[in-house]
Amino acid sequence: MYKLKKCALCGEETNLELSHIVPKMVIRMLKKTAAGNIRNSENPNIPAQDSEKHYMLCGNCEDLFSEKEKYFANTLFHPYIKKKKIKFDYDSKLFYFLTSLSWRSLYLDLIDFTENHVVGIDALECLISCEKIMKDYLLNNRNNIETIEHHLFFFDEIREIRGNTEMAELRPHVTFHRGITSYTFCFEDDGTYGTITNMMGIVLITLYKKGSREKWEGTEVLNGIGSIEAKDQKIISVVGNEFINILKTAQVASNSISEKQMGKIVENLKNKVDKIKVYPVFRDWQSDRKLNKK
Ligand SMILES: [Zn+2]
Repeated sequence: MYKLKKCALCGEETNLELSHIVPKMVIRMLKKTAAGNIRNSENPNIPAQDSEKHYMLCGNCEDLFSEKEKYFANTLFHPYIKKKKIKFDYDSKLFYFLTSLSWRSLYLDLIDFTENHVVGIDALECLISCEKIMKDYLLNNRNNIETIEHHLFFFDEIREIRGNTEMAELRPHVTFHRGITSYTFCFEDDGTYGTITNMMGIVLITLYKKGSREKWEGTEVLNGIGSIEAKDQKIISVVGNEFINILKTAQVASNSISEKQMGKIVENLKNKVDKIKVYPVFRDWQSDRKLNKK
């Protein structure tokens, strides 16, 4: 957990609040609809209570973000997760929220990237300048974020994966629909840098720089009024590797669950055996099994 000395956004030295990287309401929803304990892939043997959080923002800046977060929850997150809607009209509050989410993640990743030399100097410079642009926008000092793009990809039911049998075996439905994650990636050879955040199947990809072979259709969220549909979205991108990375991380975590913990999980599910069909994860299990039979 990071404990910063001054607010990451406004720079004020004051008491900082514990900020979630992925909004609290996402973890609340995950818990509410879980068949058992939720688990953190970094430490799968201990049932998790909460998602990643850090002392990062002052009360004023938290308040600045929370209004936009409510907007996202009500107009997109809840209607989609509850399967009430697949088409969403939005205004500029969505763009602001997505910026705040990726900015939080990027800000903390930059601490790691600078300390541990994770990426090359060009990528690092680009990320540092994007962090600054997004911060100025979030503080209302500017009204755009230049060429940075936000894309939302809805991870619906997949019926077939072409040319990638590996992915089908990695249980994509359970992993994406029952998962939360956020981190920054750099494909330095292609010149594609971004932050990816999965919120139970709603995946935000913020692109700081886009290589020439990237194709994104039906995914971009505009800075203003627009609409987006969880339908006919197409991505041809190196970011596909990150989808596989998320799946593999989940698989490694699940393989490292101890026998004792696994016993508890099985016991818990046995007790719920007649009720299990009401949990959303049941559908995801079925979808993953169907995918593997192809
Ligand atoms: Zn602040």
